[in-house]
Amino acid sequence: MSFSPYLLKGQKALITGGSSGIGEAITRHLAGAGASVAVNYHSHSENAEKIVDDIKSSQGEATAIQADVSKEDEVKAMFSQTLDHFGTIDILVNNAGLQKDASFVDMSIDQWNAVMGVNLTGQFLCAREAAQEFLRRGVRPDISSAAGKIICISSVHEIIPWQGRINYAASKGGINIMMQTIAQELASQKVRVNSIAPGAIKTPINKSAWETPEAEAQLLQLIPAGRVGEVEDVAKAAVWLASDDSDYVNGTTLYVDGGMTLYPGFSTGG
Ligand code: NAD
Repeated sequence: MSFSPYLLKGQKALITGGSSGIGEAITRHLAGAGASVAVNYHSHSENAEKIVDDIKSSQGEATAIQADVSKEDEVKAMFSQTLDHFGTIDILVNNAGLQKDASFVDMSIDQWNAVMGVNLTGQFLCAREAAQEFLRRGVRPDISSAAGKIICISSVHEIIPWQGRINYAASKGGINIMMQTIAQELASQKVRVNSIAPGAIKTPINKSAWETPEAEAQLLQLIPAGRVGEVEDVAKAAVWLASDDSDYVNGTTLYVDGGMTLYPGFSTGG
């Protein structure tokens, strides 16, 4: 399925962690739907530059911007560069995230802070900068019926506890209530804020869970759909949430998980 190249025409989007995995797919799909895209990357520019080149060679508009989303000064600089380049911003995809796994009793404060800093504080900082621009500019009815859209990439682990990853699960649980609070606070000003909670999607972050047939078979026991998700499954949901097709959707989490949150262990009666 492909979206009309006019669906997001005239809209400017910033995707954090947009140079790999789910972020890359969202970047390419938003561009395919007509948005101009700023591709944030953390440390290596090569893939971000390649994505920008690909989009430009298809007559799209794109730029790559380096920033660590956990650092306030770098986030402010990233938004300044985005506004300098595109004039404004209509869509923020808060996608950057990482894992630093350890059992609860052995988890260091550095592991806790690193994951909270990127996954939760990073989303707060980026959402705040985006919202300031949405409110300054207001609605442009010829572009979108919203003043702006924020899409937070969460996880099924915002509701499913995950042993050995307390920092990750807590950061994703935090995203849920943060997203709802921002949505509640800004709804009357026509800002829409929603989350996507992916299940298991094939990306570098979870390679060990699907790269061997044995690992994949074990993972599939958790997925009623019978397949591991692809990045496109998430990207298509993101385009819909960014578009006016979802104009009446605000403050909600869309689970893109092949049924992982249906407690598959209970499908035979528990
Ligand atoms: P990924 O590792 O390919 O993507 C994460 C991206 O975040 C990378 O591009 C990385 O460079 C970037 N990043 C990390 N720290 C950063 C920082 N300080 N500043 C800026 N960027 C930074 O893995 P992915 O699976 O594509 O993950 C994307 C998002 O999806 C994450 O938020 C992750 O928690 C979420 N998610 C993934 C899955 C899955 O199964 N793959 C499931 C649920 C949720």
